[in-house]
Amino acid sequence: LQTTTKPPLTIRLCQPRGFCAGVDRAIQIVVLALKKYGAPVYVRHEIVHNRYVVEGLQNLGAVFIEELSEIPAEHRESPVVFSAHGVPKSVPADAVARNLFYLDATCPLVSKVHKQAMRHQRQGRHVLLIGHAGHPEVIGTMGQLPDGAVTLIETEADVANFTPQDASQLGFVTQTTLSVEDTAGILKALQRKFPELQAPAAESICYATTNRQEAVKDTALGTDLYLIVGAPNSSNSRRLVEVAERAGSKMSLLVQRASEIPWDDIGEIETLGLSAGASAPEIIVDEIIDAFRARFDVKIDIAVTATETENFPVMRVLRDVELTAA
Ligand code: SF4
Repeated sequence: LQTTTKPPLTIRLCQPRGFCAGVDRAIQIVVLALKKYGAPVYVRHEIVHNRYVVEGLQNLGAVFIEELSEIPAEHRESPVVFSAHGVPKSVPADAVARNLFYLDATCPLVSKVHKQAMRHQRQGRHVLLIGHAGHPEVIGTMGQLPDGAVTLIETEADVANFTPQDASQLGFVTQTTLSVEDTAGILKALQRKFPELQAPAAESICYATTNRQEAVKDTALGTDLYLIVGAPNSSNSRRLVEVAERAGSKMSLLVQRASEIPWDDIGEIETLGLSAGASAPEIIVDEIIDAFRARFDVKIDIAVTATETENFPVMRVLRDVELTAA
C-alpha cells in the first residue's frame, strides 16, 4: 500500500492585507445605490481595480462605462458613481451639464491629496505630482487644476529634465499608492535640485499602502516565493510585488486568482509569503491558501505588523439604506 505525504509549507500571511477603507466604501456605495435606486447603476471606470469585484457588481446590476456620454438617454435618471481613484473636475461638471445624478466614491484620502494640490496652487506654487502616467488617480489629481499647473514626475530622470519657471515657487504631492522607498529617492533628488520645494501639509501615500508595504517588507526575507493577490492595473498591488523582491524573496508574483499560480515554475518551496493589494477581496486569498493546501501540508504563520481601524462612512444620501439593509 502506497501513502503519499504532502511536503510541508509555511505560509507567512500578512496582516494587514487586502481591502482598505477607501475600497470598502466605494463598493458599499455601488451596492447601496443599487438597493436604493434599483438597476442600472452606472459606474464610471472600474470602481476598484479588481475583476472579481467588478463582475460581482455587474451581476447585481451595475453597468461600467468609461465616459458619461455612454449613458443612454432613457437612463439619465439612473445614478452614476465615480470610482475610488478620483476624477478630474471636468467630470462632475460634465455630469451636471448632462443633468445626471452622480455619487462620488473618490476615497477621502485621494480627495485630501486633491486639496493639498489646490492649496499649493492658491499659494502661488507650481505643483509637482509624483506618480505614474495614465493611472486614473493621476489623471484625477492633475485634473483638479488648470492645464499646465501640474507637472508629473515619474522618475529621477524626470527630475533632472525638469526646468521650472520659478524654482522658489514649487510644491509637491504624490499618488497615494506609490512605493514608499522609490518615492523617497525621487523626493531626495527633487529636494537637492530645488531646496525651496514645499511639502504638502499631510503625507500623500496613504496608510493602507504604507501598512501593506511594511508587512511585505518585514516578512519577505527567507521566503522562496511571495504571492501578491491583485490585478495587473492595480498600482498598490504591483508595488507590493517589487517590495517583496527587494526585501529578499527569491521570487515574487502578482496573481488575480488561484488558477494563475504557475505550479510548474514554482519548484520546491518551503516558505511562501502571501499578501493582497488594497483592491483584492479576502475570498481570493482563501482560494489561494486552499490551492496550496491541496498540494502541501500547510502551516499558517500570521505576521501582524499593524492594526487598522480606519472606516470611511458613505455619503449621507445612502445612509438610510445602510441602516435598513439586512
Ligand atoms: Fe484610499 Fe489608500 Fe485605499 Fe486608495 S489605497 S482607496 S487612497 S485607502
